[in-house]
Amino acid sequence: MYVKIESERLRYLRFNQQKLRVEEYIHLRDAIITNADAAQIGNSVILPSSYIGSPRHMQEYVQDALTYVQEYGRPCLFITFTCNPKWSEITSLLLPGQNAIHRHDITARVFRQKLKSLINFITKLHVFGPTRCWMYSVEWQKRGLPHAHILVWLGDKIRPVEIDSIISAEIPDPSTDQMLFDIVTTNMIHGPCGNLNRSSPCMADEKCTKSFPKNFTNDTITNVDGYPTYRRRHPDNCGQSFVKNVNSVDIDIDNRWVVPYSPLLSKTFNAHINVEFCSSVKSIKYICKYVNKGSDMAVFRVENTNLNAPTVNKDDEITLYQIGRYVSSNEAVWRIFGFPIHERDPAVNHLAVHLENGQRVYFTSETAFDCAISPPKTTLTEFFELCNRADAFGAFTRTLLYSEVPRYFTWAATKKMDVSQARYAN
Ligand SMILES: [Zn+2]
Repeated sequence: MYVKIESERLRYLRFNQQKLRVEEYIHLRDAIITNADAAQIGNSVILPSSYIGSPRHMQEYVQDALTYVQEYGRPCLFITFTCNPKWSEITSLLLPGQNAIHRHDITARVFRQKLKSLINFITKLHVFGPTRCWMYSVEWQKRGLPHAHILVWLGDKIRPVEIDSIISAEIPDPSTDQMLFDIVTTNMIHGPCGNLNRSSPCMADEKCTKSFPKNFTNDTITNVDGYPTYRRRHPDNCGQSFVKNVNSVDIDIDNRWVVPYSPLLSKTFNAHINVEFCSSVKSIKYICKYVNKGSDMAVFRVENTNLNAPTVNKDDEITLYQIGRYVSSNEAVWRIFGFPIHERDPAVNHLAVHLENGQRVYFTSETAFDCAISPPKTTLTEFFELCNRADAFGAFTRTLLYSEVPRYFTWAATKKMDVSQARYAN
């Protein structure tokens, strides 16, 4: 069903390319001067960034995430929140004989609510202290349930000595906290994999891709490159262990198999919630890309042996996007409900960067001529305008960097001028 909706949306874009024609202003002017047909100018088939999930859209999100990094430094916490099909909110709504996988409508709705409440928990109740900014993006495993990657920037950075009070990679003591013990042993144990279970999905080339089991460590050690080495004590040294039955074999599980978690979040949300402390600047780029990498792709191709068969046009962005698209049932339901796949706070303003007369122009065959006569205003051209003013506004603007302007001026997209400037002019 959703694939049908998506195809229709993409079809609309394909048949309305005229409305979306994008060309740098200077090229348009040259083209008009040499009397070219306006319909021929511009890229062939464009999948615009306003299309959610498209490569241009993802690219914009990566850029926006890096804006946060530029402004606030490295994120503090990297949280992966996975839908738990055993939540009572889900199971209580199932009809007799149904499983959570039969009711993606319920799992999608419940996960959306839980995700909202998790974000509020962190950003409104400030359980880890006041937050500066946050962003998340939702994705789906091949057959399965949704999970969200969340990045949080805190007002006060977490100091290395504070890590143990926020993140744990150890099995809790059941005699002091049975509830947490149950949640962690059900949700936060990796594998086991390796020699204990060669068919575990994390295995590649006889090795665990997530490098479990980890080593025992008595103290948390912050690592210059990447995640810290969390404290994982040996059973002989106050560490806990329990017996897990894997494929009817009892296996002793100790702290080496625990996925880092936050006791507070795990207990509140009873789900697989992996919490990592971001310690290095090096990991930022990777994490930002990871948060925004978009849905997994399964690309396969049937080669047509008929040489006359039409080939995919490299300029046809819509076909390129569609051939690699995989939509799971849950994602389909999510998108039909119109739930967001990304959210963030605060907003990031996109500022235009271009050469003189190099701004993008949106035109149709009818408007191409008019567009060529008067170059459209952009945030950049108006920034220069502001700086050129002889009054106090101009003097103030000249003290700002271009990227600082949105803090003091609001860009009114329809009027194409800074609102405060408009007010001043009146
Ligand atoms: Zn593994």
